[in-house]
Amino acid sequence: MVRPVTKVVVVGGGTAGWLAAGVIAAKHRSRIPASFSVTLVESPNTPIIGVGEGTWPTLRSTLSRIGVSETELFRQCDAAFKQGAWFGRWTTGASNDGYYHPLMYPQNFSQINLVPHWLAGGDGRSFCDAVCPQGRICDDGLAPKTIATAEYEAVANYSYHLDAGKFAPFLQRHCCDKLGVRHVLADVRRVNLSETGDIRSLETEQAGEIEGDLFIDCTGFKALLIGETLGVPFKSCSDVLFCDTALAMQVPHATPTSPIASHTISTAQSAGWIWDIGLPTRRGVGHVFSSRHTSVDHAERELREYVGAAAKDLTVRRIPIRSGCRETFWKRNCVAVGLSAGFLEPLESSAIVLIEMSVKLIAEQMPVCREVMDVIAARFNATTEYRWGRIIDFLKLHYALTQREDSAFWRDNRLPETIPERLQNLLLLWRYQSPWYHDEFDRIEEVFPAASYQYVLYGMGFRTEVEPQIVAGSGKTAERAMRENVAQTERLRTGLPRHRDLIRKIVEQGLQQV
Ligand SMILES: Cc1cc2nc3c(=O)[nH]c(=O)nc-3n(C[C@H](O)[C@H](O)[C@H](O)COP(=O)(O)OP(=O)(O)OC[C@H]3O[C@@H](n4cnc5c(N)ncnc54)[C@H](O)[C@@H]3O)c2cc1C
Repeated sequence: MVRPVTKVVVVGGGTAGWLAAGVIAAKHRSRIPASFSVTLVESPNTPIIGVGEGTWPTLRSTLSRIGVSETELFRQCDAAFKQGAWFGRWTTGASNDGYYHPLMYPQNFSQINLVPHWLAGGDGRSFCDAVCPQGRICDDGLAPKTIATAEYEAVANYSYHLDAGKFAPFLQRHCCDKLGVRHVLADVRRVNLSETGDIRSLETEQAGEIEGDLFIDCTGFKALLIGETLGVPFKSCSDVLFCDTALAMQVPHATPTSPIASHTISTAQSAGWIWDIGLPTRRGVGHVFSSRHTSVDHAERELREYVGAAAKDLTVRRIPIRSGCRETFWKRNCVAVGLSAGFLEPLESSAIVLIEMSVKLIAEQMPVCREVMDVIAARFNATTEYRWGRIIDFLKLHYALTQREDSAFWRDNRLPETIPERLQNLLLLWRYQSPWYHDEFDRIEEVFPAASYQYVLYGMGFRTEVEPQIVAGSGKTAERAMRENVAQTERLRTGLPRHRDLIRKIVEQGLQQV
């Protein structure tokens, strides 16, 4: 007898839980409530993690797909635009050391690789400025669109900074009011298994027993289903990524009209780095560091020094973090998404994007019946494992290229035994050819495309041998692309509004609905 999958139960009401519920319910909307249900069970006693303010441009299509209004996101989540990240003091540690990883691709990226031309040209401009306008837009404090640009459309590619404590309740209202998700506030006390080993039901304190066909574990670091119940081991990667503690602080703006940076500022410290994210009402600032290389007191001192006088009466929240992920993500009829699946330091805002990609895959591949679930689970696991691996590589790249000698943290980060073999091979290859478009990045929906690798590599002073024939062969096309970049940069710098002004207008007037 075929066992149909019609009852999806999401456990956990943080960003992962509500994105999972929303994306699955939106995809299967036509079957709800007659032949399909999505239930989200959330503890009224365990708070969500409430950090995680940087996102990736994929969030625009995810929110649009589930029917969320972008205007309401700005109104209800204290959101701002994010156009990339500035990495300060990562390469040499000097005060003038820094580079952008913007969200726009280099000019004509699919037609021409501008790296060899930029390397051969030597006109003194940074790689980012030579190929893309977004660094200058960020320097000028401009927004990536105007009030006349429709919801989710961009003039310059963007994602968001948002208040994580407001985002999950915002998604909750949308999922329950518009998408038919059933919300149960209850603590899961026990997980019941069937004789086959599948999860049959959850015993909750306040709402009795809840049965399901597919369970999505979004219980955060607790990993109640995938870890505690099904015993899937956690694979640490702390030998590659050393940071294991975060200190977070909420810093008020100097005045209500202070400019808001439209990029994440990431400033390297003696044994880690500080994130600085501007929201309309405050900044979120935090220090992620390796407690093997510095003490908590010293890390807190560095954080307070960074914030300056404004830090005087502010409290710091300490969050232990563990870099790594589950050995497998989908086991039997349970799939882990979000912190229950794993965690990597938030250097490139890779957590929420991975949640989005995972829930999209689950929604699209939703097994019709239990009989096909293991086949889909195997596919999901292969794709997800690949993605975790690539994110680890990409984060490590930021450390592996450092030239800093001022502390053991930076020196240890360059030791070959701490660099994954795949990344070592790529670094060798990139000495002779730069990453571009199709090579090595062959999966659909890579978290970080080749353009991201270009920005980090050449932002950090990496050098690729340039074949003169390559430069000569496509010189005219490259010159045209770089000239177009100069013209586009000027157009955008004169045409885009100031970041804070646009957010105020969006909140007051709203963006055009798509
Ligand atoms: C310091 C730090 C900075 C970060 N910065 C970023 C960033 O810039 N960008 C980014 O993309 N990500 C970032 N992240 C990661 C991001 O915060 C998370 O990926 C995201 O918030 C998803 O969390 P979650 O929903 O998996 O877990 P949580 O928010 O912890 O939610 C867990 C849920 O499970 C429920 N629960 C637990 N036990 C039970 C039970 N027994 N019964 C019922 N319910 C239960 C809880 O009530 C809660 O609703 C950061 C993380 C940290 C630690």
